[in-house]
Amino acid sequence: MTFLTPTELRDTLRISKSTEHRLLKNGMPSIGGGRLRRYDQEAAVEWFRQHAHQSTATTMLEPGDYQCPGCGFLGIIHTAIAATQLGACRTCGSRDRPVRVTA
Ligand SMILES: [Zn+2]
Repeated sequence: MTFLTPTELRDTLRISKSTEHRLLKNGMPSIGGGRLRRYDQEAAVEWFRQHAHQSTATTMLEPGDYQCPGCGFLGIIHTAIAATQLGACRTCGSRDRPVRVTA
């Protein structure tokens, strides 16, 4: 069993301090707290493997006009939607995030 300090964990997972705190809030296993917090490497990495994708902050796209960065197709988003829920561009199939067009 290998124990990591928070800094070592962040280096291992290549995450920021704020991401570490968010993961902790979401239930990433750790021992101790504050400056004495330690992570069981195997448990933390395994948890990260299974849960990290659920903890990623999702970018919300506010209602408005958007343009596909690939083909320039213009579309309107009527209700706020998470960027991850957005389908591919209906014209070129690009999955790149559409760019907000300001009037
Ligand atoms: Zn497109």
